[in-house]
Amino acid sequence: MRVNYSEDIYGWDKFSKFIFITGAFIALFKYGKLIGGLLIVYSFWRTRSGNIPKRVEEEMAFLSLGKSVKDYFLKFNRSNTSFSIKNTFGNLKGKLKERKEFLVTKCPNCKQKLRLPRGKGNILVTCPRCSYKFKLKT
Ligand SMILES: [Zn+2]
Repeated sequence: MRVNYSEDIYGWDKFSKFIFITGAFIALFKYGKLIGGLLIVYSFWRTRSGNIPKRVEEEMAFLSLGKSVKDYFLKFNRSNTSFSIKNTFGNLKGKLKERKEFLVTKCPNCKQKLRLPRGKGNILVTCPRCSYKFKLKT
C-alpha cells in the first residue's frame, strides 16, 4: 500500500516548469547542451524531492522574484521613459538650432536675456525691459 505516495513527493510547480523550459531552450544551442541538460535533470529532481518545505520556499522565492520583475517592467512602461528621452533629445536639438540662428546675449544694463537673429551686421538693440540701447554685432 502506497497511500501517501503522491503526497510524499513534491511534483511539478511553476519553478520546476520554468527550469525545465529554460533548460530545454538552452539545450537548443550548441554550447548549452550540458547546462541545459543539467537544468532539466534538476527540474526533474525537484519534482521527485521529498523535502517539500524547502521546495515550497524555493517556489515562493521564484514567484516573488517573478512578480518584482513584472512590477519593474510595468513601472518602466508607466513612467514612459522612452517618451521623455525622446523629448530631451528634441529639446537639445532645438537648443542647438537656436544657437545657430540666434545670438543670445544679455542687456548690459538690466541683465535681461535677449535673443537676436544672427547675421544682421551691426545693429542697435533696444532692451524690451529697460529700453536701454546698445550696439551689437550679430
Ligand atoms: Zn535692459
